[in-house]
Amino acid sequence: MDMSDERDDVAFLTGSNSSESRLYSKRDLYERGHVAVCSHRQALCITVFVFSSILATAISIAFIRPWNTCDAVVEPHEEEPEYLTPIATNGEEFPWDDVRLPIFIRPISYDLELTPNLTTLEVRGIIKLIFQVTEETDYIVFHSKNISITSKTINEKLKVVKILEYPARDQLYLETDQPMRPGRTYSIRLKFEYILTQSLEGFYLSTYKDNEGNERRLATTHFEPTSARRAFPCFDEPQLKAKFLVTITHDRSLKSFFNMPIKEVSDVRGKKDQIRNEFYESAPMSSYLVAFVVCDFKLIKKRTKSNVTIRVIAPENKISQADFALDQAIKITENYERFFGIDYPLPKQDLIAIPDFAAGAMENWGLITYRETSLLFTPGVSSTKSKQWVATVIAHELAHQWFGNLVTMRWWNDLWLNEGFASWMEYQGVDEVQPDWNMKGQFWSTVVQPALEEDALQSSHPISVPVKDPRDIEGIFDIISYNKGSAIIRMLENFLGEHVLRFGLRLYLEKHKYGNAVTKDLWLALAQATNYTHDVEGMMNTWTLQMGYPLITFTKVANSTSWNISQSRFLYTGKIEGVNTSMPATRFNYTWIVPVKFYTDSGKQYQHLITPKDSNGYSVDLGEDVKWIKGNSDGYGYYRVQYPEQTWNSLIQEFITNHTKFSPSDRAQIIDDAFALSKAGELDYKIPLELSKYLKSERDLVPWTVALRHLADLKDLFGEGSQRSLILQYARKLLEDVYTSLGWEDKGSHNERLLRFLILRSAVDAKLEDATKTAANLYQQIKDGKNISSELQELVYCAGIENGTLQDWESTLAKYHTTQIPSERALLMKALTCTRDTLILQQYLHFTLDKSKVRSQDVRTVLINISSNPSGTALAWRHVRRYWERYYTSFGEGSFTIGLIIKGLTTSFSTQFDLEQVESFFKEKEVGAGKQALTQAVEMIKVNINFRDNYEEKIITWIQEFLL
Ligand SMILES: [Zn+2]
Repeated sequence: MDMSDERDDVAFLTGSNSSESRLYSKRDLYERGHVAVCSHRQALCITVFVFSSILATAISIAFIRPWNTCDAVVEPHEEEPEYLTPIATNGEEFPWDDVRLPIFIRPISYDLELTPNLTTLEVRGIIKLIFQVTEETDYIVFHSKNISITSKTINEKLKVVKILEYPARDQLYLETDQPMRPGRTYSIRLKFEYILTQSLEGFYLSTYKDNEGNERRLATTHFEPTSARRAFPCFDEPQLKAKFLVTITHDRSLKSFFNMPIKEVSDVRGKKDQIRNEFYESAPMSSYLVAFVVCDFKLIKKRTKSNVTIRVIAPENKISQADFALDQAIKITENYERFFGIDYPLPKQDLIAIPDFAAGAMENWGLITYRETSLLFTPGVSSTKSKQWVATVIAHELAHQWFGNLVTMRWWNDLWLNEGFASWMEYQGVDEVQPDWNMKGQFWSTVVQPALEEDALQSSHPISVPVKDPRDIEGIFDIISYNKGSAIIRMLENFLGEHVLRFGLRLYLEKHKYGNAVTKDLWLALAQATNYTHDVEGMMNTWTLQMGYPLITFTKVANSTSWNISQSRFLYTGKIEGVNTSMPATRFNYTWIVPVKFYTDSGKQYQHLITPKDSNGYSVDLGEDVKWIKGNSDGYGYYRVQYPEQTWNSLIQEFITNHTKFSPSDRAQIIDDAFALSKAGELDYKIPLELSKYLKSERDLVPWTVALRHLADLKDLFGEGSQRSLILQYARKLLEDVYTSLGWEDKGSHNERLLRFLILRSAVDAKLEDATKTAANLYQQIKDGKNISSELQELVYCAGIENGTLQDWESTLAKYHTTQIPSERALLMKALTCTRDTLILQQYLHFTLDKSKVRSQDVRTVLINISSNPSGTALAWRHVRRYWERYYTSFGEGSFTIGLIIKGLTTSFSTQFDLEQVESFFKEKEVGAGKQALTQAVEMIKVNINFRDNYEEKIITWIQEFLL
């Protein structure tokens, strides 16, 4: 799965975006928002038949007693009492006491018939679960959520003697009078019905407005990780793959889509307005990858060279925005078929734009669902940033068709196998079709840097985490699984070589296709690709089984030409007294096997493998007269680098004299290491500040992206007042030259456009006079009805709203409600948070409590953007505390959204007072899946407080001298 619609914003000093950029960089992109409406009641009525499939005609006997009523529907994720025997809904003991299903079940196929009615919102269904058992048993257990059974029928040979429901684990237990035996095929036939709600998970209702303003309805699905069981009873675990045969009956005016193409269309007897679509049976697949949509959308299509039909599907009034997506999907699919050496295995691929979608996109096999902003692109209206976003999300989801769908992780603890790989492949995929976008160069600033930031906290977690309970699964769709996962794959690729990695991946996919795999299987395939010359598993275990990463330190050995290379864990809190540094023990004791690459001013490249055995450091002779060393060449390694102060000073000199001696990734990484080491108390703050002087001549996107993040951080931490205005002056001085050289005219390469957006917005935020004036003029042009470049709209709207009147705000709000262009809608929604008027901000905060004003999927973006606006920080914090219960009810259930809200509102706090407020407010509060986010936020506030105590005065003094 992929990303919400938050782009990897990298603006600086913004009134409205800087915290968001840091926070959201990737974390939110991959967020698994699950929104609201846990209170819907599904009136489900089910009939069960159990029969041996050998007997073609089962004799049905009515089962009389209802064993559950619809009133007994249990709220999702209701706490189950610990250490107690599970009790079924009828008061009996529930005999299966494990959140996982029994291992002796082997589903073979499902036969599913659905009849959704978009007028009454009723869904009726019949499902046949066809399965085998691998050992003799007189019971089975399967999943279903909020389902009640009113009757059941059995055959004469095999009777169901008991059916029990245990809602806390979404499980049904079914017992037969005689044992089921291995070698035979059994099936259960269930009838059910429920009501569609706007829950954004399971089979749910979504709506949109057509050009005439009429509301149109559609029914769509989102199952990952554990919501297939809300749509139909099933064995809902990723390793229980089966084939799906689906038939959907619906209103003749609508269309239906499934993972596979339609096989047969037929009329429904006695119902002229109905139509019945039977789809081809799917390949064996995991239940979380099933999808179906019933809607009135239009489509465009094209074939790949290998004869796969690719279609992009969207509402009629938006289908004109689908051309770019279709073109990218064709090219990327063809490219992946070459890369993986395996053809895309299904006959078609659909990419469909869903108006309400919690994540950014979902890789359902052959029917990929997207947020509208992740799929639709309008030349001349959407920005370069939006274009790159769409291409990247498409590449990510298509990568999953092999990595995730064809070969699936055996269980969710290896989620990173799916997501780390897709996040790494998305850069390869886009790079191949858009070679001038410098995707591989952007990888460091968009993927690696945010992971290094988060993984430097004690409250981080390992890539491979034991998860057993479904409610914990949500929590691992995070920056560690995605960004760190892909960063270590890139490090491994660089270490083993591109061809070895690719060969190993092919071996892995070939061996496990249509099946499941664990992390170890991948390492084995890669070791095989090296002809067993490398212990891939031994090396990679140190990266996946423990959290954090090393600081690689270079020290000159006295009176010698040798240098010593050593490693230690890098932590933001390492030097803070009184912060508990005890961490879970690991068998590697927080040491790693690190491929260390570096070069010196002589131009010579070195590569050494630093292992935990080198406990006294690793010694390398670099010869005489080494002026400087640049560790971690091109930032391929997942670690930070420390040098002696003299080496830092030589590097600064070299940067100021001729920074292009270093690649853009190297420059970005040096900047980042210097600021991060200082923040952790490992390096004098003078070093990053002195280094930043070179930025006056920097003209590349990647180093600027990283530098502006750190400047924004300083600005945020220093709060309001004279210190903030000093930071702005400092920023203006650094930005002036690049601002002038880029100008406001929309021209140049893809990367130049991205850089221009970043620099202009930062210049406006830093109150560079020419920039604010130009932005104001352009805003006036918009008001006069003129068109301005799509690249400039976001920043011009924000600047206009910031300095504008209530009327400006209201007219922008009106446009936000009426535009049919998703990317425009998203930018207007953010621009509305830029106002300095606290009454308006207050009103906007209230809108987030009303779905008709702010869609559930967008609530967090509005809250966090308002909080990033200095005029809104205190308001947003007060508002969220006041309505905490309502947000928690809406988003709390196993959702990452609540954690994002906590972090977004508090991580920039930097005073003891703030810390106490946060701690005391949450002390008694239920935070659900936001628990880890809260721990991280509190840790970050402590780091901020420590930073201010130690450096604030020094930094201010330095800036004052710099500005003289
Ligand atoms: Zn994904």
